[in-house]
Amino acid sequence: MPRDVASLLALDRAHVWHPYASAIEPLPVVPVESARGVRLRLPDGRELVDGMSSWWAAIHGYGVPEIHDAIRSQLDRMAHVMFGGLTHEPAVALAARLVDLTPAPLTRVFLCDSGSVSVEVAIKMVLQYWQGRGEPGRRKLLTVRGGYHGDTFGAMSVSDPVNGMHTLFRGVLPEQLFAEAPACRFDEPWDERHAADLARLLEEHSREIAAIVFEPIVQGAGGMRFHSPDYLRRVRELSHEHGVLLVLDEIATGFGRTGRLFACEHAGVAPDVLCLGKALTGGTMTLAATLTTEDVARGVSAAPPFALMHGPTFMGNPLACAAALASIDLLLSSPWQDRVQRIEQQLRSELSPIRALPGVRDVRVLGAIGVVELEDPVDMRRVQPAFVERGVWLRPFGRLVYTMPPFVIEPGDLSRITLAMHEVVREHAGHRGET
Ligand SMILES: *Cc1c(COP(=O)(O)O)cnc(C)c1O
Repeated sequence: MPRDVASLLALDRAHVWHPYASAIEPLPVVPVESARGVRLRLPDGRELVDGMSSWWAAIHGYGVPEIHDAIRSQLDRMAHVMFGGLTHEPAVALAARLVDLTPAPLTRVFLCDSGSVSVEVAIKMVLQYWQGRGEPGRRKLLTVRGGYHGDTFGAMSVSDPVNGMHTLFRGVLPEQLFAEAPACRFDEPWDERHAADLARLLEEHSREIAAIVFEPIVQGAGGMRFHSPDYLRRVRELSHEHGVLLVLDEIATGFGRTGRLFACEHAGVAPDVLCLGKALTGGTMTLAATLTTEDVARGVSAAPPFALMHGPTFMGNPLACAAALASIDLLLSSPWQDRVQRIEQQLRSELSPIRALPGVRDVRVLGAIGVVELEDPVDMRRVQPAFVERGVWLRPFGRLVYTMPPFVIEPGDLSRITLAMHEVVREHAGHRGET
């Protein structure tokens, strides 16, 4: 290893905190020098085929000229100005674009910095809405187990209580209502029993509930599970029947990942509040958005202080908005549906043999998402280097080895990912029971 890379890693280890990591005994990290197409280039010249899209975001791969040009030309005009009392073309154009693309009732857009913050904003919207509508007793959120909505306190409060380590933050974290996770797979027959627990909680608490908060079709980081569009339709019906709002979190699923531009389209359902993030800028800059309806916007503004009480310093950052506009243009002018469908077919055929390996509980594929669920958690110290040795970048967590590659990945590169998954899962099976 060259000296400068060794010292980079030593400084990293001494000072830098990584996601969900110990600062004291961190797992090794892999240095990246640059990224192009679907490849991450390491300082020693090796290249890794990216199977993660940098956590769902880099749908076009890396080094995308259309997005970089848009950021550069925006940079020549202005990098940033505050959004309080000022406005600018990139933010306005992006808001209008998002309203055009998303289900019709959504007409109002709040731009913010990250997915977690967009969920916080959604929660503030629904709580302020009920104040404005004269039902301030509606303070609770209803959700399902197995969800993931982010790492800030409001978002954590509606994420899975076990995965989300709610016990660590007891007393500080708001206590919400949790129904059973949807048990119906994407393409399996559905019946009313699947929503029985959700229906029961709505029945018992309906006057206290402000909104249902829910990831449509795909539960992402909470367990990588897919559920039936019928379930989502039923959630929407139940929310109408009980007069509670529906917040859909499409931070992971938005912008084509499931084969539809937005996952709620599988069920023909429109939410009252929609959260977007991750792929919004094609993985280049941090940006998220919370969209809502005229009705919710009016409710929020109907009681003192007659305003939505949120305003990030970097709200509507022009560089990020320009990147998002360029990413959306590029997506919509590309054959993204064909690409996602082709990835889906290839993942189905190449991952399904893994189901027969010992230690494998399930293999499932939807859109450009492929998941292998194991019986036991993987040993990251062993598994992470095993993928890097095979020239692919995957980041399993717990019992899940999964891929959501950039939409532009070529079949040969995708095969490298699925082959590596097969081999590494087989090795994992061989090591089961060891400590
Ligand atoms: C990643 C994610 C979030 C949080 O987004 P951040 O940008 O990491 O704050 C929220 N909800 C879902 C469904 C996500 O996948």
